[in-house]
Amino acid sequence: MTLSADSLASLPKVELHVHLEGSIRAGTAIELAERHGEDPQAVLVLEDGRYPRRFRSFLHFVDTYLATSRQLRDPADLRTAAADFARAQAAQHVRYTEATFTAVTHVRNGMEPRAMWEAVSEGFASVAETEVRLIVDAVRNLGREHAEETVALVEDALADGAPIAGLGLAGIEGSAPETELTVLRSAADRLGLGLAVHAGETGSADDVRRALDVLGADRIGHGIAVVGDPALVERLVREGVPLEVCPSSNVSLGIVEDLEEHPFARMWHAGLAVTVNSDDPPFFSTTLTDELGHAARLAGLGRPDVAELQRRAARAAFLSPDRRDALLGEIDAWEQDGSQAG
Ligand SMILES: [Zn+2]
Repeated sequence: MTLSADSLASLPKVELHVHLEGSIRAGTAIELAERHGEDPQAVLVLEDGRYPRRFRSFLHFVDTYLATSRQLRDPADLRTAAADFARAQAAQHVRYTEATFTAVTHVRNGMEPRAMWEAVSEGFASVAETEVRLIVDAVRNLGREHAEETVALVEDALADGAPIAGLGLAGIEGSAPETELTVLRSAADRLGLGLAVHAGETGSADDVRRALDVLGADRIGHGIAVVGDPALVERLVREGVPLEVCPSSNVSLGIVEDLEEHPFARMWHAGLAVTVNSDDPPFFSTTLTDELGHAARLAGLGRPDVAELQRRAARAAFLSPDRRDALLGEIDAWEQDGSQAG
C-alpha cells in the first residue's frame, strides 16, 4: 500500500531537524552575494549555478554550506531567509518546525545580536500558516568557547522573547570531547530548553552513547550508526530516545550508498522512535514531503504508520503540552479522514 502524493501533501507535518542556513536555495544565495557586490561564482561553492549534486566528503559539504551561510551579512538578509523558510514549510503543510540556527556564526561575522533575533522572529512571524521555533546550535569542532558563547546569546535572546525551543550541537563528530561541552546540558536545564545533538551520522554508535551519557541529549540528530549495535538499539527502544533521521542527506553526503541501502526501514521495524526530516533541503535536492515519501516506500508504510511518524515528531518536539495536543489532534484527524475515504 502506497500513499498518494495528495495524501502526503495534506498530512499535517512536524519537522524537528532542518537547518535555517541549510535551507537557503542556491538562487537566493546568488542574489544575496550580488546584493553585497560579490561575484557569486567566487564566493559560493556552486556547480553550473547550483549546489553540487553529490558531495565528495563531509568537508566539501561544510565548505558549500558555510559559503552560503556567510551571505547572511545583515539583518535584512536574515529576515529574507527566515520568511522564505517559513513559506516553504507552510507550502508543505508543515504545522510546526524546530529549525536549527547557528547564531554565533553571524554574531562573529559582525551582526548585532538583538537585530539578528528580531529579523529571524519577524521573518517567521510573517507567515501565519505555520509556526517555527529555533534550536540554536553550537559547532562541535569550535569547542567549549563556541558552546559558551551560544549559551550566553540564547540567554539574552530568551529574555527578549526570541522563539527558541532548544539548544543543539552540530559540526564534525569526534572533533571535541563531550566533556568539553556539558555547558549545553546545564544551560538547557536552567533555561527550560531541550537539547538535540547530532551523533551517529558520520560517527559511530559510541558517539551516540556519549551524546546520551555525557551530554544528556533529549534527541539524537541522525543516529543511523546505531543499527550496527544491537545493545544500543535495544536501549534506545526501551528509553524511547527520538532519532531525527534524514535519508537523502545521508545519501548526498556519501554516508549511505543510495536510498535503497538506507537503514530507515530497519530502524522503523526495530521499534526505534524515528522521525523523518529534510536536514538541508535545497543542498540535497529534497523536501520534507519527499523524505516522508521515501520513508513510506522504504519501510512499506501506510496511512496509519505515516500518521504515527508525525505523532512521534510531535511528541519529541520541545513544546508545551497544549500545543503538542493540538498538533496530535490535527494528525489524528488526517488519519481518520483517510479511513473514512476508504
Ligand atoms: Zn543536521
